[in-house]
Amino acid sequence: MAETPIHIPEDINYSCTGCGKCCGEWSVPLTEADYERISEMDWSSKEEFRGKKLFSSLSLHEKEGLPFTHVIVATDEGYCPFLKDHLCMIHAEHGAEAKPQTCQLFPYTFTQTPSGAYATVSMVSLAAMYNVGTPLKDQQDYLRTKLAEYESVMSAHAPDWSHIQLVGGQKLDWPTYLEYEKELLSILKDKSRSLNERLLKGSDFLVSKLDKPQPASEAQDAPLKKLDRHLLSALHKIYLPHKPPTRLEAHFNPFRFVYQYMFEQPVLRLKPRTFTIDELQAVRWPEDDAEVEDMLYRYIYQRIFGKFYFGGGFAQITLITGYHHLILVCALIKLHSKAIACEREATTVSLDDVAETIRLLEKYLGQTHISGYAAAAYELLMFSPQRIRRVLRNT
Ligand code: SF4
Repeated sequence: MAETPIHIPEDINYSCTGCGKCCGEWSVPLTEADYERISEMDWSSKEEFRGKKLFSSLSLHEKEGLPFTHVIVATDEGYCPFLKDHLCMIHAEHGAEAKPQTCQLFPYTFTQTPSGAYATVSMVSLAAMYNVGTPLKDQQDYLRTKLAEYESVMSAHAPDWSHIQLVGGQKLDWPTYLEYEKELLSILKDKSRSLNERLLKGSDFLVSKLDKPQPASEAQDAPLKKLDRHLLSALHKIYLPHKPPTRLEAHFNPFRFVYQYMFEQPVLRLKPRTFTIDELQAVRWPEDDAEVEDMLYRYIYQRIFGKFYFGGGFAQITLITGYHHLILVCALIKLHSKAIACEREATTVSLDDVAETIRLLEKYLGQTHISGYAAAAYELLMFSPQRIRRVLRNT
């Protein structure tokens, strides 16, 4: 069988620093083989595991489209119970190959597409977050072995790219998508403009490809509308929750959104406080801080390069809605980082505020399941180029 081509992102670095952060703040998924192998090991004889539930099975809904059957139950502090003194006990006692497949691959990830596999690294890892280590471009051989591992687990679960659309009813073939992506990434890389300007230019570029042209954008100083605020608040509850959400709370529900719109205040909750968007607007986002802008840029760049934002990469939503959703996520990163800054009584966001926010987002957005109804609501709520402008300029 021919080797799958690997595409590697530019200027993305990663080497493991052994910080142990990858082993926290999520429930590690297990394949059936992982579960059988690890659950058979004798954990109950160890004092720290006595009487503890270490594994939980996934519901049919949670397993849908994935090769996983169980998760490792995190400790009350949110860490994997097998992490001890920054080391994995499974690795230490049974070897690296005994660890869950996800852990053996992490933080590398691959998106399979008609033109090959696109490699990225999850920013849950602190090294990936701060761009520390060897450039991925110099890790080609290692990435090839990781891709083989990935394919052995995920081969039956490749994303479906057969019906991608620019907008509902306007189909897009894969070569044309790749041309659009190339242009989007080149707009994004142009650091002579602010990140906001680049993101909006990317939206203009995609909208210019519509069969039916859109009306001109509204005034630069247009304030947020009630619907914009509620949309930000609803997405914040799901992607940046202040406590682990229940199964019902963890996904976008259009009916709940209508209820929230009619009866609730559009606030952002950050334990133990809530913030209004107006309050957060008073905190400064440091556009002149190259490190902050670069961290946010790398997050967006990797989502586009890895194709985790539309079609087979994200709930089969259309390209324009997927790109606009990414802009809304960027606005949420800014608002949540401002809330963290507020909490520590600072007037300007710091690099660590942004890092904390992106790590939380990586955890929850990666686990969010967007149903067909939710995807339809995303199309309705996020297509508007005017909404994206208002949101980005007011956050
Ligand atoms: S199983 Fe080991 S490598 Fe995986 S999250 Fe737990 S401690 Fe980390």
